Amino acid sequence: MLLLDGKVASQAVKKELMIATGELIDQGKRPPHLAAVLVGNNGASETYVAGKVKFCAEIGYQSTLVRYADTIEEKELLDKIAELNKDDTVDGILVQLPLPKQISEAKVIDSISPDKDVDGFHPVSVGRLVQGLDTFIPATPFGILLMLEHFNLETKGKHAVVIGRSNIVGRPMSILLSSHIKYGNCTVTLCHSHTKNLAELTQQADIVVAALGRPEFVKANMIKEGAIIIDVGITRVDDISAPKGYRIKGDIDFKSVSEKASALTPVPGGVGLMTIAGLMKNTMNAYLRRQEQVID
Ligand code: NAD
Repeated sequence: MLLLDGKVASQAVKKELMIATGELIDQGKRPPHLAAVLVGNNGASETYVAGKVKFCAEIGYQSTLVRYADTIEEKELLDKIAELNKDDTVDGILVQLPLPKQISEAKVIDSISPDKDVDGFHPVSVGRLVQGLDTFIPATPFGILLMLEHFNLETKGKHAVVIGRSNIVGRPMSILLSSHIKYGNCTVTLCHSHTKNLAELTQQADIVVAALGRPEFVKANMIKEGAIIIDVGITRVDDISAPKGYRIKGDIDFKSVSEKASALTPVPGGVGLMTIAGLMKNTMNAYLRRQEQVID
């Protein structure tokens, strides 16, 4: 079985972006600049944002972290986004989700300029994705494409089953895998909480992308021999024997599935690392597009 190691694949993207940033600096230009907005102090969100800020520093990007207490009013957050939209030195804006109840996530996503929408959640970005136009691909599905590319896994003509239809992972992943792109051209089945006989569908899949948020849900008896399995799930499961009092679990039962799959991503150390790589590539693209150049 091929371990789809996110450390190795994300390192390759990191190196590429580091070189590209170095070249910009050598030309006397400023580096790409990502602004991250974090509301409240949700443990997982803190970890994700810290990982993004650290990655920026490592590849030479500028980053700005804007923090608010979870009591912030919606208007104050929208005003900040408007300010970041206008700031010419900011290339990408991300607002870490989830947001507290008093704030509409849809309104916040809508308020980010599509030119700076490096998370790819804005309706304009999603519309362009559906139409196969140049856009910002949401970071997790983008990271999965980068993973498939790194390990050169052929997808054309294969049957892919995506479990989960969220706007940030499952739905865009299903669109990309069915698109006429290098790591697309699959026949896609999109499954969700109302899907009947899920196992019958996953047993027919050449590729399974699990993004449902249920620890170790997909067992070996649900997959076909030799399938490619992408585990997006990240759930903290209480474990008093672990140093932090919890362990991170994916949606795939790694032990049993690894004996049957041809390729499998670990959790942690798989798709999570690729998500940050996807975000950073989007930020470089935002920077270059704003200067009317694009890298693919
Ligand atoms: P979500 O809760 O928004 O969506 C879950 C989806 O799974 C829903 O569409 C639901 O219909 C489906 N689902 C739930 N139970 C199901 C079942 N029994 N059978 C079939 N479908 C079922 O979640 P999300 O934001 O898409 O995240 C999914 C998981 O991926 C979570 O564990 C999340 O933490 C993780 N995640 C990881 C990354 C990463 O970088 N690795 C990024 C985003 C999310």
